[in-house]
Amino acid sequence: MDMGIAGKWALVCGASKGLGFGCAQALVREGVHVLVVARGAEALEAAVEKLIADPLRPKDTAVQHVAVDITTAEGREKVFAVRREWDIVVTNAGGPPPGDFREWTREAWLKAVDANMLTPIELMKATVDGMAARGFGRVVNITSSAVKAPIDILGLSNGARSGLTGFVAGLARTAKLASANVTINNLLPGAFDTDRLKATMEGAVKKTGKSMDEIADARRKTIPAARFGTSDEFGATCAFLCSAHASYITGQNVLIDGGAYPGTY
Ligand code: NAP
Repeated sequence: MDMGIAGKWALVCGASKGLGFGCAQALVREGVHVLVVARGAEALEAAVEKLIADPLRPKDTAVQHVAVDITTAEGREKVFAVRREWDIVVTNAGGPPPGDFREWTREAWLKAVDANMLTPIELMKATVDGMAARGFGRVVNITSSAVKAPIDILGLSNGARSGLTGFVAGLARTAKLASANVTINNLLPGAFDTDRLKATMEGAVKKTGKSMDEIADARRKTIPAARFGTSDEFGATCAFLCSAHASYITGQNVLIDGGAYPGTY
């Protein structure tokens, strides 16, 4: 299916690897020009090389990058200095660490809220009115299945992302945006085979003394699909939400978790 977005410009945050990279790759394959962001310059440059070398990239599709911390005002300014107007914005800034809430300081909470709630809000504030003026806009916030089914040790994530989810539910439904073909949706990953998942499982290895294989097998058994998701699958779903065909989908929390969430709604 032609997604109908070739020639659009996308800002994809947290995109040197994992789910953000999967989104950038899927968009580039649709002929969307992308600017990818991550803090580590080396991994980001490697990601850019991979995107440019992708045989499925239409030849005239641009791939730019800026190595910054997107959770800082300076980082965002550097991105907007390269380009001010965006058709598509994918927000992502890694996830907060696991732990016990008794040990989390006010600073730890502020960092989580900054990265997983306020940064996406700042990025939307800077872009959605321009999208509305041009009559096309897509925002996809990478959040977590923990928004629907909280995970005890990921309390920083559960809390901060729930704040973003509530905010998006209101913003996406404002007539000024929804009637101007600007959609805002959250994409909620379950367990995906990325460095982030490996780090979470390494934490479980240390805590329980079990092997990595045992921890991974036990986790897979909690997923009806009996496997972890891939960044390609995640990216394809993101590209669809950004497509011309998805203009009637807004304010949604789209779970992509191999059936792991046990509820009807
Ligand atoms: P990942 O493999 O660790 O990749 C994270 C990416 O974001 C990297 O490119 C990283 O590069 C970049 N990044 C992190 N902090 C950043 C910042 N402050 N500014 C700019 N870029 C930043 O993680 P992932 O698995 O793709 O996860 C993506 C998001 O989905 C995270 O929020 C995670 O919590 C959430 N999630 C993932 C899973 C899963 O199973 N994988 C499940 C639920 C939720 P640098 O470190 O170089 O900046």
